[in-house]
Amino acid sequence: AQRLAGKVALVTGGASGIGESIVKLFVRHGAKVCIVDIQDDMGQLLCETLGADTCFYHCDVMVENDVCGAVDFTVEKFGALDIMVNNAGIADPPCPDIRNTDMSVFEKVFAVNVKGTFLGMKHAARIMIPLKKGSIISLSSVSSTMGGLGPHAYTGTKHAVLGLTKNVAAELGAHGIRVNCVSPYAVGTPMALAHLPEEERTEDAMVGFRAFVAKPANLQGVELTTNDVANSVLFLASDEARYISGANLMIDGGFTCV
Ligand code: NAD
Repeated sequence: AQRLAGKVALVTGGASGIGESIVKLFVRHGAKVCIVDIQDDMGQLLCETLGADTCFYHCDVMVENDVCGAVDFTVEKFGALDIMVNNAGIADPPCPDIRNTDMSVFEKVFAVNVKGTFLGMKHAARIMIPLKKGSIISLSSVSSTMGGLGPHAYTGTKHAVLGLTKNVAAELGAHGIRVNCVSPYAVGTPMALAHLPEEERTEDAMVGFRAFVAKPANLQGVELTTNDVANSVLFLASDEARYISGANLMIDGGFTCV
């Protein structure tokens, strides 16, 4: 059955990786989806492949006018906004020595991951509050609750995404709007492969990636895919999750429970 029939969604960072899987799954479940990204070629190609239930809008989530424009474009195009997915994100390169932290990179990671997520929440709320319904889902990470796995800025931003999720959920509950985040363990996307520590990189990036994730993961014999993450976002977007708000859904095979 189609679990998002008649709903309209906006997915930031929808041109690649986890975002692309979310877009495809949402369309399969009957939603109309606005794909938002800075990678125009990839976003437009995905849109052409998926057809009239999708549209593409160029938007840098660090820029408030862009996010405002993306939300308005979605409403003009499809007549509503029921689901906002704040997925766009970047990571700083692994930096084992804090003294070498490049502050311009640090600031950019916060601008995309934290400011970008907040702007998504702010402008989705502008549309959703008068409608008295909506579901906002943001991508956090296992680095929302633990240190030592991701780089410093990345970990700081993913804790912040969880904090924003709780705060905005507390405010928007009064308007019937649910606000949640999902926290995956490492998934083999372009971001994750770029993020590997130097010593884990091999000629075949996925071989190095698998070796890296196989070490600490709790659940053995299962490889986390972008589709697993997309399915958890689908659940939170759907009416099946109608009483879930302020939650941080871990998608980590038990990694953070120890
Ligand atoms: P990805 O690099 O494959 O995709 C991210 C997308 O975001 C890209 O299409 C990129 O162009 C877009 N983007 C980047 N900066 C942007 C900006 N300023 N404005 C608009 N779009 C922008 O990465 P991914 O692994 O699919 O990551 C998606 C989300 O999932 C991120 O928030 C990431 O932190 C989170 N996450 C990823 C992993 C993982 O292991 N891959 C684990 C946990 C959480």
